Amino acid sequence: MDADVIIVGAGPTGLMLAGELRLAGARVVVAELLDEPTGQSRGLGFTARAMEAFDQRGLLPRFGGLQTSPLGHFGGVQFDYTVLEDAHFGARGVPQSQTEAVLEQWAGELGADIRRGSALTALTDHGDRVEVTLTGTGGEQRLTAGWLVGCDGGHSVVRKAAGFDFPGTPATREMYLADVVGCGLKPRFLGEKLPGGMVMAAPLAEGVDRIIVCPHGTPPRDRTDRTVTFAEVAEAWRAITGEDISHGSAEWVSSFTDATRQATEYRRGRVLLAGDAAHIHLPAGGQGLSTGVQDAVNLGWKLAAEVAGRAPEGLLDTYHAERHPVGERLLSNTRAQGMVFLGGEEADPLRELLTELMAYDDVKRHLAGSVSHLDLRYDLGAGSHPLLGRRLPPRALRTAAGATTTTAELLHAAQGVLLDLADDAEVRATAEGWKDRVVTVTATLDAAERRTDPFAGAAAVLVRPDGYVAWTSADGERATDALERWFGPAAPGR
Ligand SMILES: Cc1cc2nc3c(=O)[nH]c(=O)nc-3n(C[C@H](O)[C@H](O)[C@H](O)COP(=O)(O)OP(=O)(O)OC[C@H]3O[C@@H](n4cnc5c(N)ncnc54)[C@H](O)[C@@H]3O)c2cc1C
Repeated sequence: MDADVIIVGAGPTGLMLAGELRLAGARVVVAELLDEPTGQSRGLGFTARAMEAFDQRGLLPRFGGLQTSPLGHFGGVQFDYTVLEDAHFGARGVPQSQTEAVLEQWAGELGADIRRGSALTALTDHGDRVEVTLTGTGGEQRLTAGWLVGCDGGHSVVRKAAGFDFPGTPATREMYLADVVGCGLKPRFLGEKLPGGMVMAAPLAEGVDRIIVCPHGTPPRDRTDRTVTFAEVAEAWRAITGEDISHGSAEWVSSFTDATRQATEYRRGRVLLAGDAAHIHLPAGGQGLSTGVQDAVNLGWKLAAEVAGRAPEGLLDTYHAERHPVGERLLSNTRAQGMVFLGGEEADPLRELLTELMAYDDVKRHLAGSVSHLDLRYDLGAGSHPLLGRRLPPRALRTAAGATTTTAELLHAAQGVLLDLADDAEVRATAEGWKDRVVTVTATLDAAERRTDPFAGAAAVLVRPDGYVAWTSADGERATDALERWFGPAAPGR
């Protein structure tokens, strides 16, 4: 075997997955067809939950000063994230190229073998291994690995070659996105609806604006051999706004559509899909990159356990079981946003109704929870504690040794965490058998922690490496069952 796992695609999903797998000790090759990163700004920022996922791995300082905003929107109808209990805001204005650079450096430092200029052109799943052909300037190369993950974006070659179904609705319209220079545009953060379509503009840097142009009635064009030009975008902008921006220029222009599709399975044999390779949708509310990153965080530790031969029965299949419904919900929420955002006059009553509903905190909480990805709750079976299946929320802790730490810090090594909140020697003794996979921490909420106590009623909490709570107990009973279910049998001799 040349690697335990071959990842195809060094976008945000592939790079995050490479880092996660390396943290868990798997040997990883990342094959990326491009010789160099694109430098494109595409996904500008990430959701609150993706930001927490980066925090869990200690990655946030690598981004430098991050701007956050309490303001969100659903289909252009504004709300305030402070309605959520923890009031966590996503990062905005971070170009995708920066996110990719941070992740590529991190994954490289951890030992991922990132091979640029290597396009996957063929694959065969032999049942006990996967063989791929990578084609680059140096010719063809054959590699074999235990597993293959397609993180190769919306046009995924892996998805097609491995025979995944990708049903959904085809594109009905074409829209434009550009980072324009010297156009002197007034900001239109939430978009402006005009008779000819919707336009958005937001400053990116000194003299540079991100614009989105969504004309009504522009059918999708075949862009295989003809990329969109600044002149086309300027003409579409003029047709909607009456403003001439043709004297400016563009750092980057692109077109996108409302095509919405999802793979029916995220795993076929030894081939898996993650990120845009598994789901495509309108880029409404900036959720694509963040969903891909969270697919990767969900999959990484499970696949690494499988590679190491210590995964409990069915663990890897929980990747599809947990992430497919998340993708389904994403498709539905972006389609709904598209109807409100991009519809013509016929959508005005819907927009007015949504604006009225936004006066209610429950509505705001529901929509903010959904687009920030903070409301995610995996169905992890029996138990009634409010934390079960939810992410470990950010909190300051004080350990039994008197040190202060945070819930995010406990997850830096991407191992499981058993929080012993009641200083229970029996729980700690039970966990000894898993100490190669699960860190046991005796701690309580820090006295200075002013937020609500999410652990109320729990004496012990088991957290998976992806930061989701797998088990809680009021008295530490049945810790063995929980540890076995998620991490396999205890180490021999324990
Ligand atoms: C116009 C536009 C605006 C967007 N705005 C936002 C936003 O504001 N916020 C947000 O969160 N998301 C946004 N998105 C979505 C976001 O860019 C994607 O969801 C994100 O890039 C998905 O990451 P990925 O790693 O899954 O796929 P990609 O980023 O597409 O990465 C796939 C990688 O695979 C490589 N590859 C492809 N084929 C092969 C092959 N055969 N062999 C080897 N490598 C291959 C590609 O070169 C690429 O590097 C936007 C998207 C578009 C199009």
